[in-house]
Amino acid sequence: MNMNYEIVIGLETHVELSTESKIFCSCGGHSSPKEANDCVCPACSGMPGMLPVMNKRVVELAATAGLMLNCEINRYTTFDKKNYYYPDLPCAYQITQLNHPICTNGCVKVKTSAGERDIRIKQIHMEEDAGKLVHGGNSSFVDFNRTSVPLIEIVTQPDFRSAEEVVTYLGKLKSMFKAGGISECEEGAMRCDVNISVREEGSEEFGVRTEIKNMSSFEAIERAINYEAQRHMDAIEFETEELVQETRRFDDVSGKTFAMRNKETEADYRYFPDPNLMPIVIDDEWLEQIKANKPVALDEKAEAYAEAGISDKEIAMLMSEHKIAALLDDVVSLGCNAKDAAAWILTDCAGILRKAGQKLSDLAITPQGLAYLIKNVNEGKLNRGAAKKTLIAVIEDGADPERYCEEQGFTAQVDDSMIESVIDKAIAANEQAVADYKAGKEKALMAIFGACMKELKGSGNPQLIRELLIKKLQG
Ligand code: ADP
Ligand code: MG
Ligand code: ZN
Repeated sequence: MNMNYEIVIGLETHVELSTESKIFCSCGGHSSPKEANDCVCPACSGMPGMLPVMNKRVVELAATAGLMLNCEINRYTTFDKKNYYYPDLPCAYQITQLNHPICTNGCVKVKTSAGERDIRIKQIHMEEDAGKLVHGGNSSFVDFNRTSVPLIEIVTQPDFRSAEEVVTYLGKLKSMFKAGGISECEEGAMRCDVNISVREEGSEEFGVRTEIKNMSSFEAIERAINYEAQRHMDAIEFETEELVQETRRFDDVSGKTFAMRNKETEADYRYFPDPNLMPIVIDDEWLEQIKANKPVALDEKAEAYAEAGISDKEIAMLMSEHKIAALLDDVVSLGCNAKDAAAWILTDCAGILRKAGQKLSDLAITPQGLAYLIKNVNEGKLNRGAAKKTLIAVIEDGADPERYCEEQGFTAQVDDSMIESVIDKAIAANEQAVADYKAGKEKALMAIFGACMKELKGSGNPQLIRELLIKKLQG
């Protein structure tokens, strides 16, 4: 190849929001349905004469996503109808935002092997999802569960220069949105259209672009970009074919892209303002409320964790599970040390969960319960072994930590005189071990110490008991 080429990519990313209900009716949101057409009503199945009613939560989540991506939040935002005919779209139009999207002009930093770059966000708009066609045997079915599930579409400027940057950006959105309760971002809930062109390095002008539609696996996105970029470069370099602006699909099996249709233009959709939905005005008070409820930006949070001495690997684990990061924050706000608490969650709890065949995200312990265990251990009122037993009871049987410790006598108040009498008893009952210890066999101490701990049923500070025991044996 004679020339050096630069790849130029812009993304349109659709994210299903984690709302309880759909965007314009009260049917259950994206995680509700179990069977096909479970969550469908006359409105979202396109019955004539039904009117949309805006879900306020969608506005709040979309604006929160915008704040996370450093966007301007537009105080006046409106909906438009995008018209096209397809069996998964019962109204024959999609309600979306064309003229006044909720967020504009954002920016996300993306760090790759090529360094850190700013990716500009052109806009974020709210819209409704379409249904799903299910093909089987000789028939095709339509499932309307997904019609009117709220989406945000995040449109970037053509600022990406490699597949690596794209995948890094998507990973960042995913962690941010999961951590912020915007979306679960599970398989299929985050879908991307990739716009791609290539140009000679140093050129100011963009080349012809093609758009690869509707991909949801990061791996497929990366393969599709690399394939498509090469196809463009070959077309330019060797004049193998003429590049035209068109929509393509990526075939996972062959690893190639295929033309689907010529790119529609805006006019093809005959957009017009939706007369059934009033413009939404976000006033100062509402915006302040949205800002106040916005979770701490992921970057800031990761920084704070790092400062508390939590390792990068642990930070990544915490960040990937919104629930877990929230648990840690709550435990910390109850007065526990962050590094300490992270270790309890990621080592002790995670270990027990793994043995029980569960995931970290399955962890069900209240912040109060975990903080109770950590504090009592740190204050020497509960030994680690007993705390671990308690955690097992909490994780496997849903026990309440405080009640369990009390029932088991783990936290029974033991005063020094009680410890002393237990030690005396253990010494008297273990003559041989005492003799061995006095003869210099340090290991013999464990037998006497173990007898004390057994008698105390795990309560009492082991360090202190050990010291007292040695003092007695020496004295
Ligand atoms: P349209 O109105 O045709 O959908 P937009 O201006 O909304 O076009 O752009 C759609 C996406 O395509 C955006 O993410 C944008 O960054 C990207 N894009 C535009 N031009 C190019 C190009 N020459 N190469 C790669 N991506 C592009
Ligand atoms: Mg567009
Ligand atoms: Zn409905």
